[in-house]
Amino acid sequence: MTTLTFLGATQQVTGSCYLIESGKHRILLECGMYQGELRPEKIPDKLFRFDPQKIDAVVLSHAHLDHSGLLPALTRQGFKGPIFATTPTRDLLVVMLKDAAFLQHKDVEWENKKRLRSGKEPMLPLYDMNDVEQVLALVETIDYGQRTAVIEGIEVCFRDAGHIIGSAIVELWFKDKAHSKKLVFSGDLGNSSSPLLRDPEIVQFADLLLLESTYGDRDHRPADETRDELRQALTQAFEDGGNVYIPAFAVGRTQDIIFRLGQFYHKRELKQQKVFLDSPMATSVSEIYTHYTGLYNKEHPEFNEAIFEGGWKDWLPILSYSRTTEESMALNTIVSGAIIIAGSGMCTGGRIKHHLKHGLWRSKNHIIFVGFQARGTLGRALVDGAKQVRFMGEEFSVNAQIHTLGGFSAHAGQTQLLEWAGKFQERQPVLYLVHGELEKMLALQKQFHARYGWYANIPDLGETITL
Ligand SMILES: [Zn+2]
Ligand SMILES: [Zn+2]
Repeated sequence: MTTLTFLGATQQVTGSCYLIESGKHRILLECGMYQGELRPEKIPDKLFRFDPQKIDAVVLSHAHLDHSGLLPALTRQGFKGPIFATTPTRDLLVVMLKDAAFLQHKDVEWENKKRLRSGKEPMLPLYDMNDVEQVLALVETIDYGQRTAVIEGIEVCFRDAGHIIGSAIVELWFKDKAHSKKLVFSGDLGNSSSPLLRDPEIVQFADLLLLESTYGDRDHRPADETRDELRQALTQAFEDGGNVYIPAFAVGRTQDIIFRLGQFYHKRELKQQKVFLDSPMATSVSEIYTHYTGLYNKEHPEFNEAIFEGGWKDWLPILSYSRTTEESMALNTIVSGAIIIAGSGMCTGGRIKHHLKHGLWRSKNHIIFVGFQARGTLGRALVDGAKQVRFMGEEFSVNAQIHTLGGFSAHAGQTQLLEWAGKFQERQPVLYLVHGELEKMLALQKQFHARYGWYANIPDLGETITL
């Protein structure tokens, strides 16, 4: 018998984690964290609902922390098995998990100063660099399309999901004496908008399908309209005499935005003369992207050989990297004509908060959101039109102009999700919606019913199903 237990990303977008028990083996599909889970005040008492020592292997769809962020906690608590991932995913994990461990170390240090002053016991971080090294030593890489044994009776195959570099749709086969079953997990499905990524591969058979539903309720605007909107917002900001701030996810969105800015630059449509990538992590990730140009989408209508050639600086010569804190702080003295790309993408941390602190109150400035903003984040408040926001212990009035550009999303929209799932031939798999907020899932559920007469289940946290 094979069972699957939903341990995260149920009716929300973060915390992806599924425990699969097949015969005497247990594997984990994803080991993600919830938004902000590493912050000292949010660390739960019981991190895992299972014994990490009893997990035989982990299968990982892609490197985003909401899918991978608790791997070092898993090794700290005794997991010693292999972690299967694609090669670009492994390279990204090096950067992302180290960054997560470093940020956590700083947060805990700060928290412990307060605790010591008030006579409380200091706390330990969930994991540190040693735990990250442990994870990296356990990673076994598999190329797309290579069916590989995970453990006796379980096989895996990765298909390109087109969401970030190295992202995968996961096919898993389970075989024991009595039966053989196949699970397909969509991972995070891409949006085919960028030549840096291929379209999500089509899969045609499964007994059980786990489908992401981040944008289950709507379609994105077409990428070319979004490109025009971006160009107009940049021109407007230049004419207004302000700066442009782009809160960007270090992996994926940042590279896509630099690609777009390069397109404008080559067509002489970019008025600004300075673009700053103010994120050491995004800088490292951009470097990783240049190692995998073979995975770019050569069939994409906007594909341009030049994105291969001399790296990002060649593609966008006015790009500079702000690596140190001093270089980042120096940007606060620029009041007009600059484009500043900084993380985090939802403005929950990182250097973008400092830029917003200095720039939000000025009506000449423009803030451009290019990715999903989860509920409860500063980014979501701004996108939803808040006129006053509070962060870093201060109240700020929002006078800057806010733009939300949906077409560059790294996730498939509603129609793309329906069409991708509709390719499952022979017979409809049992379908479960994951990785989406409840109302988006409900909208998608309705569409599955209307279009295919197919019932889409919405699982609860902790629910166990049998394959
Ligand atoms: Zn993702
Ligand atoms: Zn995700």
